[in-house]
Amino acid sequence: MREVELVRVLLERLWEALASDPHRKIASVRVRLGIGCAAPERFRMVFERLTRGTPAEAAHLEMDIIPMTFRCTLCHHTFHSEEVLGECPRCGALGGEVLGGEEFALVDVRLKSAEDATVNSLNAPRS
Ligand SMILES: [Zn+2]
Repeated sequence: MREVELVRVLLERLWEALASDPHRKIASVRVRLGIGCAAPERFRMVFERLTRGTPAEAAHLEMDIIPMTFRCTLCHHTFHSEEVLGECPRCGALGGEVLGGEEFALVDVRLKSAEDATVNSLNAPRS
């Protein structure tokens, strides 16, 4: 499953961000995710599973979801698609040359401030 691999790569980057201050927690993470790279819902599920019990647990995951961009190999029309194998709206051919939608990048990481951490641990119901 590709999502697991991507989340692992992402977590490595998060731990690097925490390296200077391992007691801080991650408040939010923002990624750019092409739908040709991973399915966003699965990515979120895997993120929630793999961050359980870590400093990124309960971090808010924001995803900028990038649709696929194809250039049709038959009529050379360029089009966007929410499907991994898009259909050319001009001639009906499937797929084509991929111009976008396979990217994955970490855009932003926000750490909780020390004060936030205190407030959150006081307010959070223990489960
Ligand atoms: Zn076409």
